[in-house]
Amino acid sequence: MKNVIIRKIEEIENWRRNINSEINFIPTMGNLHNGHIKLISTAKNDNSYINLVSIFINPLQFDNKSDLANYPKTIDHDIKVSFENGADAIFIPSTEDIYPPNYKNIKFLKASSELSSALCGLNRIGHFDGVCTVIYRLLNLIKPKNLYLGEKDWQQLLILKDLVSSEKLNVSIKSIPTQRDFDGIPLSSRNIHLSKNERKLIRFFSNELLEAKKIFEQEKKINLKKIIERLSEEKISIEYLEHLHPHTLQQSSAEDNISLLAGAIRCGETRLIDHVFLMKRRPIIAIDGPAGSGKSTVTKLIAKKLKLLYLDTGAMYRALSWLMIKENIDYKKEKKLQHILKDISIVFKSNTNSYQDVYVNNYCVTEEIRSQKISSIVSTISSLKEVRKFLVEEQRKIGESGGLVAEGRDIGTTVFPHAELKIFLTASIDERAKRRKSDANSKDSQEIDLNTLKELIKKRDFEDSNREISPLIKANDAIEIITDGYSINEVVDKIIDLYNDKIPKETEIK
Ligand code: C5P
Repeated sequence: MKNVIIRKIEEIENWRRNINSEINFIPTMGNLHNGHIKLISTAKNDNSYINLVSIFINPLQFDNKSDLANYPKTIDHDIKVSFENGADAIFIPSTEDIYPPNYKNIKFLKASSELSSALCGLNRIGHFDGVCTVIYRLLNLIKPKNLYLGEKDWQQLLILKDLVSSEKLNVSIKSIPTQRDFDGIPLSSRNIHLSKNERKLIRFFSNELLEAKKIFEQEKKINLKKIIERLSEEKISIEYLEHLHPHTLQQSSAEDNISLLAGAIRCGETRLIDHVFLMKRRPIIAIDGPAGSGKSTVTKLIAKKLKLLYLDTGAMYRALSWLMIKENIDYKKEKKLQHILKDISIVFKSNTNSYQDVYVNNYCVTEEIRSQKISSIVSTISSLKEVRKFLVEEQRKIGESGGLVAEGRDIGTTVFPHAELKIFLTASIDERAKRRKSDANSKDSQEIDLNTLKELIKKRDFEDSNREISPLIKANDAIEIITDGYSINEVVDKIIDLYNDKIPKETEIK
């Protein structure tokens, strides 16, 4: 598609009707800097959809007339850099195009009251309602598949996600991390208004936040009072500085693994915001579900795509069961069990074929633990109190610093109850038996007829779901995905979307 510039409502409506590709939409207010460029180029690299950038200074979101009048306008530059960095079309409507006289047919939206009654919402009355109204209007005109927004305006991002879900709009929101200038301050169109001294102050402020993030990584705590004191010593006028839950924007609690440290300061006429995410450990995804639900296949792919460690806890229960059979141990004899648990070493090593090999006391058991013999006793072994205590501790050690996706039966309820994302993956018994039968990793299953396989799976489900200690159940905060009729890739993409929705992209940056 050749570069087009669209200005009128009829033109955009016409253009949209004639496009038969999906659209990535990047809304801006112009005066484009590297943050906007990153949004455009990310959209360009994500897929082969058409990239539409809009440039529109939305009067409804300005609570201050002189701020609106002084908002920088650099339209020729904006057109040039948009096209140079991957825009296929640019929409530059006038105020009258977006808001016709008497606001005819305009739906005024209200931002979520919970989300807009914190941080910037307290001082910028009506600002987020204006943002919601314009984005809703633009989304209805453009009907994009993806909407690209920066995490720099984190509160705005949350409010727009809420808008998309409450208005049931068919668009996915993709975000990019805050882009910073060479001196650490977040890129913003308003930065050009800063005097040398004001820039020095915002630099001090941003660097305080970045420093707090570093300290938090070591000490896992934050001293807000101290930061406020240091900012006051520099005569920085603080509008707010808050430590909050990153999604609800309520006060952060000790349990939050990821929290938000957000502030706004005033430098002369200019008001600037900045934030950092504080993280106790890297994120964890917990995937639980019954036998044959596709957990292993899906979990491995997610680990690969998100560059997370893959932890197959079922393989640990299987490995232990394998050793008990090999050593001819009667699991009812407590002493013998204690003895074996004391000396066992279960280690995962990456390989090129099936992803990971499992070693028990330095012996590779990857294939043997998938036999029907092991499958038929593993549920009994895994119901033993000592076994669970031992393996849960081992699993927690592996996940101590996070950065992993773990699959099993009790990950979301017991092993990692504070996992950022919990999935309960399931499928009908027919579907699960069919999958097991064609599973190249469980060779025995291929030889068993489908009905017998169904009965065996049902038996194992029953034992896993009815044992006394941490039975297989869906955690209260887990999202259930029934995979019948979905391809593996569809399930993987769905889980990755859920992950991206929960975990700010910024947390991936060191
Ligand atoms: O996932 P997989 O089928 O390999 O798991 C084998 C068995 O290990 C399960 O049927 C269950 O009895 C046990 N298990 C468990 N808790 C986990 C993972 C597996 O009890 N977290």
